[in-house]
This record gives sequence, structure tokens and C-alpha cells, in this order.
Amino acid sequence: ATPTAVMVATGKGASQGVLIKGGQALEGAHKVKMVVFDKTGTLTIGKPVVVNTNLYKNMVLQVFYEMVAAAEVNSEHPLAKAVVEYRTRLCIDHQQREDRLPEAKEFLNIPGQGVHSIVDGKEVLVGNSKLMVEHGIEIPEEVAEHLQETQKLARTGVLVAINREIVGEIAISDPVKPEAAAVIECLKSMGIQSMMVTGDNWDTAVAIARELGIERGAVYAESLPKDKAKIVKDIQMTGVTVAMVGDGINDSPALVAAEVGMAIGAGTDIAIEAADIVLMKSNLEDVITAIDLSRKTFRRIR
Ligand code: ADP
Ligand code: MG
Repeated sequence: ATPTAVMVATGKGASQGVLIKGGQALEGAHKVKMVVFDKTGTLTIGKPVVVNTNLYKNMVLQVFYEMVAAAEVNSEHPLAKAVVEYRTRLCIDHQQREDRLPEAKEFLNIPGQGVHSIVDGKEVLVGNSKLMVEHGIEIPEEVAEHLQETQKLARTGVLVAINREIVGEIAISDPVKPEAAAVIECLKSMGIQSMMVTGDNWDTAVAIARELGIERGAVYAESLPKDKAKIVKDIQMTGVTVAMVGDGINDSPALVAAEVGMAIGAGTDIAIEAADIVLMKSNLEDVITAIDLSRKTFRRIR
């Protein structure tokens, strides 16, 4: 393609909210044979909401959520925001809502697992089963069953331990974006395979993938940021050109590793910086817009 053609295509992309950072990014997109999607905030809406709570220790729900919210208010994680938000809705009278949360001390964010904190002199852990196992906290049979039920319903189960005892399980739902399934179907018809990588657990990941028509074999769950990048690199080693689509800090190493990194416009600044293409409207249909634009520019003249 001539420099003029590239400029025209880049301008056309920009006018549609597809920001292409240079000719190389545009050229890469027409060779893409595989799109690797992040789950949370990319394939899903990314605004998770609490949909169910199981309590095990005869605790008052308001008190439970006060402890959990105090620990999570220090975290930027979407799951943390969901529980803090839910707690404000639980308060019945206005006075309670205005009351400040108890102070959390020794706050510790454990990436890919959850948070640790001391609230009212009690040790509070909020996160996944890995967090509990790594802290030597036993997960009773009943809790494990609830967790599995939650996750098979495509929800994320968050466990809460107070003073080393599991006191509750919170089911949090983050629905898939309305366009996601159709985009994956469309990519397939263009000869492009879709994969999903996530830090979330396997059961939830597989349930979401099933909703979207992504095969079980094309799912990677419980992945750390460096795992996401390695998955992308390993596929590229086989000679397949990969586009990575993501929104989080988690995804930036993979966005850099991929031949074409695409960031969701509503995502974090770090992801947007790491990407070659930014989908300003945060609509997954623009993955196709970008590939189409590249195909039209680079396949015509040759
Ligand atoms: P994702 O790729 O889904 O954004 P993360 O690596 O951020 O995944 O987190 C992986 C998992 O770790 C989450 O699904 C959750 O179970 C747990 N987790 C991480 N941070 C928190 C938190 N602040 N509160 C509760 N759970 C958390
Ligand atoms: Mg994400």
C-alpha cells in the first residue's frame, strides 16, 4: 500500500473511533488469524454486581459487608468496587450510609488473588480460593459446593475469611457485552479463531466462553499477566499472527507481545499506552472494523 493509502485508512479509522497508532499497526491487522480476548472488561461489561451472599457464621449481613467493604475500599479491582457499592445499598437508614467505614490497617493487595487487611482488630481476607489456600485457611465442604455452583453459573465467587475462618461467599455477576457473541461468530466467518484468557477461575471462564461460542480448548483461566503474554508469544511461535484485545494493567504485557495489541477505550491508561490500536467506543465490533480496514488497504495493491 502507498503511504497515502495508509494515511487515508488511518484517518478513516479515526473518524470511526478506531485509533491506529501508525502504519505498522494497520499493516499487522490484515494478517491476523487469531484474536485473544481478555475476559473481564473486554468480553464482559466490566461492571460486576453482587447477586447473592452465603453466610456461614450467623453474622448479620450489614456487619459482614461493613468488614468486607472496609477491606476492599482500598482496592481498585472491579470486584472490590462491586462489594463496596453493594454495601452502600444495604444500609437501611440514611444515617448508616453516611457513617464512615471502620478503618482498615495493614492493607495488602495480592494480585490475582484478593486483599488482606486488619479491620476492628480482626484479620480480614477477601478473594479467591487460592488466597485462602496460600494463607492456610481451610475451605469447608459446604463453602466449596456453593463456590462451584456460583462459578458454573458464570459468576465469580469471592470468599471472605475473618480471623482465619471462612464466614461468607459472595456471588458476583459480570454479564457479557451484547455484541460479544456476534463478533466472535463474525470473526469465525472471516477465518479468524477466538481465544479467551483470564485471571478468573476455570469454572467461571468456561461458562462465559460457552455463552460466547468459544470452545473449551480455546480458554486459558487463572492466568497471571506474564502468563497472558506467554500464551500470545507461544501462538506466534507457531507462525500465527495474533491480535490481543484487553482493557487492564493485567493485559499490557500481552498487548505489547501481540503483533497487534488492541485496547478497549474505556480501559486503563496503561493498556491504552501498550496497545497499537485503541477502540475508542469500547465496542468489540471495532475489532472487525480495524481488521477490515487493514484488509482493504493491504490486500488491494499487491
Ligand atoms: P481478571 O483477568 O479477571 O481481571 P485478576 O488477575 O484481576 O483477573 O484477578 C483474578 C482473580 O483474583 C479474580 O477473579 C478474583 O477471584 C481474585 N481477586 C483479585 N483481586 C480481588 C479483590 N480485590 N477482591 C476479590 N477478589 C479478587
Ligand atoms: Mg480485563
